[in-house]
Amino acid sequence: MDSRIFPGGTGSTGATSATGATAARSPAADLAGRKALVTGAASGIGRACARAFAEAGAHVYVVDLAGEAAERVAAEVGGTALVVDLSVAEAVEGLPADADIVVNNAGLQHVAPIHDFPPERFTLIQRVMVEAPFRIVRRTLPAMYERGWGRIVNISSVHGLRASPFKSAYVTAKHALEGFSKVTALEGAAHGVTSNCVNPGYVRTPLVENQIAAQALAHGISAADVVEDIMLDRTAIKRLIEPEEVAAAALWLCGPASGYVTGASLPLDGGWTAH
Ligand code: NAD
Repeated sequence: MDSRIFPGGTGSTGATSATGATAARSPAADLAGRKALVTGAASGIGRACARAFAEAGAHVYVVDLAGEAAERVAAEVGGTALVVDLSVAEAVEGLPADADIVVNNAGLQHVAPIHDFPPERFTLIQRVMVEAPFRIVRRTLPAMYERGWGRIVNISSVHGLRASPFKSAYVTAKHALEGFSKVTALEGAAHGVTSNCVNPGYVRTPLVENQIAAQALAHGISAADVVEDIMLDRTAIKRLIEPEEVAAAALWLCGPASGYVTGASLPLDGGWTAH
């Protein structure tokens, strides 16, 4: 039995109290010897995940379309850069199948009303954000089942739980990812594999910075008003969330305290879905 599965197991460097609770100074997870495949790891949340998982001891496969940035992140975290276009099925099928942890994170946005939404853009978003996660999980599950341990973390969104106008492809893809994550959880449970989603509100990353201008155009308002009136309108906490906060939640889902958490969706949304 893997001692890292339980709080206070010998794999933990933290002190354990009489009640079995691990002291606050323990790392969120001890991933020494693990391989973590993180998609979209060249930027934003994916890069923060690559850093957090490497710091916890994992070897990270830095998967991204952006070659130079992926190489930079891989060099920084001592991982392996894999330059892949996740919209191409054959390329996805060439990714390593030996990861203990998969973080399905790569994504893109397109903001337009449905009647103007380019169908090829809709298809691209489903390929990268739904089909690629399916193919990656399908390829990596057999080795996880063999080892009796695996962790799938799907970087969903508050838009996996709620809709917004002008984001038909993105909201569709994230809701699909939520369903896929739950099915993975049900099938994986008997094999020591958990699957969960994390659901951030607006995160301070290039994806959001690019969106501000697009939203301003779609809604016919200023960029400042997009942040104030649209992005933060539905959150109780009036700030963007940082990529590192999302990575910390993803890491926790791979750690000793969360073995019973599966098929769940963890809102990191400043209270958005409390409405
Ligand atoms: P980002 O734009 O900073 O990073 C996305 C990465 O995905 C980029 O490095 C990009 O090159 C890569 N990528 C895009 N298309 C690809 C493809 N076809 N093949 C390989 N790589 C590809 O974005 P981010 O904000 O860090 O978003 C990461 C994930 O978090 C996305 O799934 C996004 O939907 C989700 N998310 C973001 C926010 C936010 O506010 N930023 C909120 C909720 C959820």
